[in-house]
Amino acid sequence: MNPFSLQHIKHTQDINGLSTEDGAKYIAGGTNLIDLMKLQVETPSQLVNLSQWEDEQSITENDDYFRIGAMVTNTALANYAYHQPSLSLLSQALLSGATVQLRNRATTGGNLLQRTRCYYFYDTTKACNKRQPGSGCAALTSMNRIHAILGTSDDCIATHPSDMAVAMMALDAQVSLTSKTGEVRNIPLRDFYCVPSTTPHIENVLKDDEVITAVIIPKQRHGTQYYRKVRDRSSYAFALVSVGAGLVLKNDTIEKLTLSFGGVGTKPWYPASAIRVLTGATFSEEVLDLAIDAELADAKVYGSNNFKPDLLRNTFKSVMHSLYEHQRENGDHEGALYEN
Ligand SMILES: Cc1cc2nc3c(=O)[nH]c(=O)nc-3n(C[C@H](O)[C@H](O)[C@H](O)COP(=O)(O)OP(=O)(O)OC[C@H]3O[C@@H](n4cnc5c(N)ncnc54)[C@H](O)[C@@H]3O)c2cc1C
Ligand code: SF4
Repeated sequence: MNPFSLQHIKHTQDINGLSTEDGAKYIAGGTNLIDLMKLQVETPSQLVNLSQWEDEQSITENDDYFRIGAMVTNTALANYAYHQPSLSLLSQALLSGATVQLRNRATTGGNLLQRTRCYYFYDTTKACNKRQPGSGCAALTSMNRIHAILGTSDDCIATHPSDMAVAMMALDAQVSLTSKTGEVRNIPLRDFYCVPSTTPHIENVLKDDEVITAVIIPKQRHGTQYYRKVRDRSSYAFALVSVGAGLVLKNDTIEKLTLSFGGVGTKPWYPASAIRVLTGATFSEEVLDLAIDAELADAKVYGSNNFKPDLLRNTFKSVMHSLYEHQRENGDHEGALYEN
C-alpha cells in the first residue's frame, strides 16, 4: 500500500474547509477501498475519513420521504427497512449482500460507490480500461461469466455489484450530494450511474468536489415486494442475476410495478421498457414474455455469460408469478415476500 495522509470530518460543514489534493478519496467503512489500495488498484495520496461524520449517521422520516444518511451502516438500514412495509425490498436486498461483519462496516454512501468485482479490474497485470483508460479490456474475450449483458460497450462489460442500489432504484430513490461550496444536488438514482461507453472509468455523475450526504426515498405504496438474488452460493457471493420488484394488482390488472435488475447491467438496471409494457396490462404469461423481450432486445452476450438472458427471463417471471399469486390472495398487502 502506498503512503497516504489522513484528514477527518465530523460535521458536514467541515467539507467546506477541506483542502484536498487531486485524486484524494473519501473513506467510509473502507471495506472496498482498502482492498483496492492493497492491490494498488487505487493509490490515493490522501484520504478523508468519514467514520466520525456525526451528522449523517441516522435515518429520519417525514410524511413524504425517508432520508438515509450516507454513514448509516448496511446493518442499521436493513433493520430499519425490515420494519417499514414500503421499504421491505430494501431490507431483503441488504441482507442478501456480503456477510454480517461486512454489513456492520459498510455504509450507504460507500455501497453506492463500490467498484466492480470484474476479476481483471483487480489484477493490475491485465488490460482494463476502467482501471487504466485506453489499455483495453481483458474480459471481452476471456472469462466473463459474471459480466453484463445490458448497457455494455466495446470498452467495458463490467457489472455494478451493489444489491442495495438495485433495491433503491426500484424504490425511486434520489442521491443527495453536497459540494465543497455547500451546493446541494438531488439526483434520481436512475440518472446517477453512467453506462461505460468509451469512458468506463467515469461511473457516475458525482463531481470531484462533491460528497454523497444521503439517500432520499419517497413514501409510496409498492404493494407486495420481493428481492430475489441468484448466485453461486447462498451467502458471501455477488448476484449473477437479481430482480427487485413490487406489485400492486387491481383485479387482474397491474396497477403499479416497481422493478429493477442486478448482475446483468453495467449499472444497476432500471428496465424502463419492461415497466412500460406491464403497467396497466392484464397479468399473463404472454405479457411477461413481451416485457422481458422488450428489455432484452439490446442485450449482448460475450461467451461465458451466454446463460444470463435466460436466467434473467426465468428469474423475472418467477418473481412476477410469486408476487401475482400473493397479491391475488392478499388484496391490499404491503410488504415483503420471503423465500423459504
Ligand atoms: C467479500 C465481500 C463480499 C461482498 N458481497 C457483497 C454483496 O453480495 N452485495 C453487495 O452489494 N456488496 C457486497 N460487498 C461490497 C460491500 O457491500 C461494499 O464493500 C461496501 O458496501 C462499501 O461500503 P464502505 O462504506 O465500506 O465503502 P468504502 O470502501 O469506504 O468506499 C467505497 C467507495 O466509496 C467512496 N465513498 C464512500 N463514502 C462516500 C461518500 N459519502 N461520498 C463520496 N464517496 C464516498 C470511497 O471513496 C470509495 O471510492 C462485498 C464486499 C466484500 C469484501
Ligand atoms: S470489463 Fe471493464 S472492468 Fe473488466 S477488464 Fe474490461 S474494462 Fe476492466
